[in-house]
Amino acid sequence: MLISHSYIKVAAVTDHDSVRGCKPTVELASAYPDILIIPGVEISTSQGDVVVLGTDELPPRPWTPEVVVDFAKSVGGVSIVAHPYREYGMGDRARNYKVDAIEVLNGGSGQAANNQAKDLAKSMGLPGTAGSDAHQVSELFSVFSQVDAALDVDAVLKAIKKGFVSPQAARGSIRF
Ligand SMILES: [Zn+2]
Repeated sequence: MLISHSYIKVAAVTDHDSVRGCKPTVELASAYPDILIIPGVEISTSQGDVVVLGTDELPPRPWTPEVVVDFAKSVGGVSIVAHPYREYGMGDRARNYKVDAIEVLNGGSGQAANNQAKDLAKSMGLPGTAGSDAHQVSELFSVFSQVDAALDVDAVLKAIKKGFVSPQAARGSIRF
C-alpha cells in the first residue's frame, strides 16, 4: 500500500493472480474523494512473484517475467519484483528482467530478506518499494511506500518509476 504525505491516502489492491477485487474496491472508494485505489495484481510468474500496479486486467499468458513486464509497460503500469528473497521470490534472477522496481520492504519478510532486496535494488539502480503483503485486515499498513505525487493513479505510478518513493515501516501504527 502507498501513502502520500503523512497520512494514508492511497491503497493498492494486488491479489494473487486475480483482479476480481479491483473494480469493487475502486467503486467502494469512489465515495471518498481523498482516497485513491490503485488497481493491480501479483502474478505468479515462472520465475517468481511480480506485482503489476496500474491494471485491472490480467496480463496475457504465458506468465513469464518478460510477458508480465512488457504488459505492465504497455498499460503504463509499474512492474515490481515482490519479496525477491522469500518463498516464491525471484532472487538474483530479477537481474535478468527490465522491471521498474524492487520490493525492498515486505511486511511478511524477515529483515535479512528485506536487506538482501535493498542491496539488489541498489545494485540494479532501481527504486525500492514497500508492500504489506497483507492477507488479512490485521496485516494491512504494516509497511507502506511514501510516494511524492499528486493524488492521481498515473501520477503515483510515474513517481514510483522515477524513484520518488520511499519504503516505510509502520508496524502497529494503525489498528482496526
Ligand atoms: Zn508473493
